[in-house]
Amino acid sequence: MLIRSKQPDTGTTIFSVMSKLAMDYKALNLSQGFPNFDCSPTLTSLVDYYMKKGMNQYAPMAGVPALREIIAEKQAALYGVNYHPDTEVTVVSGATEALYAALTAIVHQGDEVIVFEPNYDSYLPAITLNGGVPVYVTLSPANEYKIDWEVVKTTITSKTRAMIINTPHNPTGVVLNEEDLNQLASLVRDTDILLISDEVYEHILFDGLAHWSLCRHPELKERTFICGSFGKTFHVTGWKVGYCLAPEVLSTEFRKVHQWLTFSTVTPIQYALADFLKEPNNYLSIPAFYEAKRDTFLASLAGSRFRYVPAQGSFFQCLDYSAISEENDFELAVRLTKEIGVASIPISVFYHQKNDFKRLRFCFAKDDETLQEAGRRLVEWSNLSVS
Ligand code: PMP
Ligand code: GLN
Repeated sequence: MLIRSKQPDTGTTIFSVMSKLAMDYKALNLSQGFPNFDCSPTLTSLVDYYMKKGMNQYAPMAGVPALREIIAEKQAALYGVNYHPDTEVTVVSGATEALYAALTAIVHQGDEVIVFEPNYDSYLPAITLNGGVPVYVTLSPANEYKIDWEVVKTTITSKTRAMIINTPHNPTGVVLNEEDLNQLASLVRDTDILLISDEVYEHILFDGLAHWSLCRHPELKERTFICGSFGKTFHVTGWKVGYCLAPEVLSTEFRKVHQWLTFSTVTPIQYALADFLKEPNNYLSIPAFYEAKRDTFLASLAGSRFRYVPAQGSFFQCLDYSAISEENDFELAVRLTKEIGVASIPISVFYHQKNDFKRLRFCFAKDDETLQEAGRRLVEWSNLSVS
């Protein structure tokens, strides 16, 4: 039988590969992005409560109304914007679904989608499986991964259908600011380009920086699908509950795909999240919590030969090892896992041509002891290594 593959064999993701290697070598796993601590017991009690209460059947396609309402209220309180809970908020099974459904809803054969690399791995299959063509804007550490909007302008063609934005950014930890939004607005003004904004780390940003959700710019809001996830905010990456916010005309298109992709999302967890979100401190406390984690990790690297710019957001810290070793980043990530027991992610995997800028990504969503021990091992390695 002829199997006519639609999707090239991309193999297992680097996150799973490195997590498995970490397990095999009993390494500290700072590779795949997930916390090694538990979520609030209040949240698990709420899930337990709603499961026992019998909320175990299909939820409405767009999501449990109470959850949609509180998401809309939160967005209004934080960013001063209105999304109608009935028509503009859709609860989905993780941001991965939100991204996939948004792209599926809008990308036609041959449409171009602008992607900033390094980029999160699910974007490309979601574009190509829908017949889209990725157009890359390559960001580099030389200018701290800042977007040069003049360069972006040169990549726009009559076929450009969409652009994917991610702030705070995985893997670099860089965040966009108000000026970025203004520049983006001037590029897309008078075009039909749509925006997909991956904001899963919206509550994980540091040093007093504000989250510039694309919805804060009225012109951008009109053409943007905002993709969010509770996995990062509430330390429950395994629950896979997220949402998409978009103006009604776009949400209508989005729901046409969500309807047939997953149809509806896990019911008792939606009820639990709706209650948990009523206490704003449950998410307003997250930036300080993660800033302390970032600082613990960075403090534990004191005296090493790693160079870095502290992450502005996300729970990832990139370290530049070019002063220590000339080794390829993938090989080094594997070697450090095996030899010193610290697993990380090589940044080259986030580039389509595997650009190697001698940087590794470390996830600091870990307990302090793990962060300190990882730091101690990295310092020791950096000071013993002669390149
Ligand atoms: N986007 C980015 C940038 C991510 O880091 C992740 C995390 N895995 C996702 C999307 C997917 O989120 P979810 O687990 O909710 O599908
Ligand atoms: N978002 C996670 C990361 O960047 C990984 C999720 C996954 O394993 N696909 O590490």
